[in-house]
Amino acid sequence: VRNLVVVLGDQLDAGGAALEGFDATTDAVWMAEVAEESTHVWSTQPRTALFLAAMRHFRDELRGRGWRVEYSEIGDKENSGSLAGELARAVRRLKPERMIVTQPGDWRVRAALEAVAAELGVMWEERADRHFLCSLEEFRTHAAGRKQLRMEFFYREMRRKHRVLLDANGEPEGGQWNYDPENRGSFAKSGPEGLRAPKRFPPDAVTRRAIADVERIFAKHPGRLEAFDWPVTRVQAREALEDFVKYRLERFGEFQDAIWLGEPWLFHSRLSAAMNLKLLDPREVIAAAEAAYRGGKASLASVEGFIRQILGWREYVRGVYWLHMPEYVERNALKAEEALPGFYWTGEVPMACLRDAIRQTLDLGYAHHIQRLMVTGLYSLMLGVKPQEIHAWYLAVYVDAVEWVELPNTLGMSQYADGGVMASKPYVATGNYIKRMSNACAGCRFDPAQSTGERACPFTTLYWDFLLRHERRLAANPRMGLQVKNLARLDAKAREAIQARAETIRKNGGVPPGAGAEARA
Ligand code: FAD
Ligand code: SF4
Repeated sequence: VRNLVVVLGDQLDAGGAALEGFDATTDAVWMAEVAEESTHVWSTQPRTALFLAAMRHFRDELRGRGWRVEYSEIGDKENSGSLAGELARAVRRLKPERMIVTQPGDWRVRAALEAVAAELGVMWEERADRHFLCSLEEFRTHAAGRKQLRMEFFYREMRRKHRVLLDANGEPEGGQWNYDPENRGSFAKSGPEGLRAPKRFPPDAVTRRAIADVERIFAKHPGRLEAFDWPVTRVQAREALEDFVKYRLERFGEFQDAIWLGEPWLFHSRLSAAMNLKLLDPREVIAAAEAAYRGGKASLASVEGFIRQILGWREYVRGVYWLHMPEYVERNALKAEEALPGFYWTGEVPMACLRDAIRQTLDLGYAHHIQRLMVTGLYSLMLGVKPQEIHAWYLAVYVDAVEWVELPNTLGMSQYADGGVMASKPYVATGNYIKRMSNACAGCRFDPAQSTGERACPFTTLYWDFLLRHERRLAANPRMGLQVKNLARLDAKAREAIQARAETIRKNGGVPPGAGAEARA
């Protein structure tokens, strides 16, 4: 073999940089399923199944072209269990002159593979990942000299550079860059109307085998596989995109922050996993959304809101990850040291909002952004969970979880552990925020208006406790001024009562004492 082209589980793009110039007469592709990728964090069954199913379909597609694909399956007897081990085994056998890889999306994986190449003395060629619209150099240039990075300015640059949603004069369509204020709707008491279930992709024979392997090899791992219906090929991913643009994009914007118990998808695209596996190119997703606006099929506010997530946030978090790794993962600006409560792995918890978000996460491998940020993330932040523990949870449970995107969102945006790189202030709120955005509180034994007493909502208690614990630091942040000022409303007795209740919640595994856990029916 002349060139051994390394294709990782989240690089399933036949047009990817590493495969450019592939010569079927002399080159081979190398892919490996390894246990380490599911055990370094306690990866849930849906997440592992999606990776394996998509990888096997991609392998079959390349082999269908007549390409040589060296592939280790997770159940192979000789499988050493680690990417480095499998790559070393392949190199010894195939003796390639050179290894070619598209830059991995995970710092740990990149370091491990580079070390193999160095140890075995094989030439190692790493190519930039063209999947992203912003190269790492470009992001570094954007960041250079700025005291503080802000997504909004980056996003505007990207809109201009890639000519997305601009009018004939090169100005933002509609005269405004950002329609976020129009995108904070919640549902009426009767609930969301006009919901249509997203297109499903029932497992075919290849996926069923992947699922069976996961059930056998990772039997003790959390999560369920009964409902597995993710797109696992490029053709399916394209269909999923079409389905979203046709049936949900129009209402995406208005309801992107809303939560409704038992309705996991609402008007979300459900495309993150397909994009992160590289089955879909962000350019085609952005173009499809813009075309819907130009064709009068979706409002500007909705389309702008959606495009901002992809052209803005998704590119931005990747830039932040590579700008600050590897030290970023160790950050703990608020010195949070609590253990992650066990209920994050079971969903057995009396708080209705957390129960719904966590159960849905374990059953489907999915929760939408506000569930992640303002339910599970918010609770962990205010409880004071060690950022590295909650990071490992997020990386394990979602089908779209890959470190370059998961880490800045978790450690930075949701836990404020980076001290303000990702977010200009900690996202903290009482249970009243969840009440406003969802129907969860109506059926919950707690009351979001109360911060102490038997029925006090733990979010509300922990909110005030968080402000009290970090008062000095937060008072120095102009964006927190109003929230910190409200502390003056609490007299010494009220403060004491709040802190005492917060302490009992912490001592009781993150749950108010006496509330009991609600087991799954
Ligand atoms: P939609 O709501 O339909 O949004 C459209 C697309 O925009 C998504 O598919 C995604 O590609 C992109 N997007 C939206 N928000 C973000 C964001 N904050 N950062 C990057 N891209 C974004 N996203 C991941 O892809 N992988 C993760 O591991 C991940 N972990 C997260 C952890 C936390 C604590 C938080 C708060 C957010 C996380 N996100 C992650 C971002 C976001 O929640 C998911 O991308 C989104 O919920 C996926 O569902 P969807 O495809 O239906 O998205
Ligand atoms: Fe969640 Fe509090 Fe509302 Fe219960 S009352 S659903 S715990 S926010």
